[in-house]
Amino acid sequence: MFLCRLHLLAILLLYVLISYMPSLAAARPAPETTPPPPPQHYGGGEVILDPPHWVWPEGQPKVMTYALSHNSTTIASIPRHAVLATLRSAFATWAEAIPIKFIEISDDDDADADIKVGFYSGEHGDRAQFDGPRHILAHASVIGAIHFDATEHWTVDLAREKRSAKNVFDLETVATHEIGHVLGLGHSPLRRSVMYALIGERERKVRLNIDDIQGVQELYGVNPSFDWGVYYKKDVESSPGSSFWGLGLACFLLL
Ligand SMILES: [Zn+2]
Ligand SMILES: [Zn+2]
Repeated sequence: MFLCRLHLLAILLLYVLISYMPSLAAARPAPETTPPPPPQHYGGGEVILDPPHWVWPEGQPKVMTYALSHNSTTIASIPRHAVLATLRSAFATWAEAIPIKFIEISDDDDADADIKVGFYSGEHGDRAQFDGPRHILAHASVIGAIHFDATEHWTVDLAREKRSAKNVFDLETVATHEIGHVLGLGHSPLRRSVMYALIGERERKVRLNIDDIQGVQELYGVNPSFDWGVYYKKDVESSPGSSFWGLGLACFLLL
């Protein structure tokens, strides 16, 4: 009787094993030829989202205006038209991902602009004084202000900067970051992200990373002409990407 029970148990065990075999096979990792799943959260990082400040009535076009404030300091090293061209490019970077149209308006009408951009130094009326060269480079407010520290060595063309020049910062890189804050994004823990809080001197990073895109699209939806495939292709073609981290230089804060 004892032997019979053992036999029965063995047969039962065998049956269970055989019936589970197909699912064991299915649990194996997929072959490498399987295409990767669509991108979700790259590197485990996500953009921190604030509630969106900018909303539009249903069915109305999403438009935001910006102006380079005439009240702000001008920086002698960069002509005004070059600053405006840089801002245009930085706003276009975000507009590629979301259905918002950014319109530049004359600096004389800057009071009417949704986003007022300017260069300031020291205490400048918003209780967030700048600290002179280096350290804090810029800050932004979600209600529509982007301020650059006028005492920094800004550039719109890194290739033209003398190699001996120290603490040179790429204006478009910082502008792109600050626009992200105005749109309601917080800092990202990912170094490749535009919304990463630190930047190195001579670092250029003007392509949105996956979590920048996911964050901003979560807030405003997707630009109908945005295509992940095309975006990644451009990314590959436009690499080398950021050169700063390879150099291991000091980094500076973007608020
Ligand atoms: Zn300020
Ligand atoms: Zn920041």
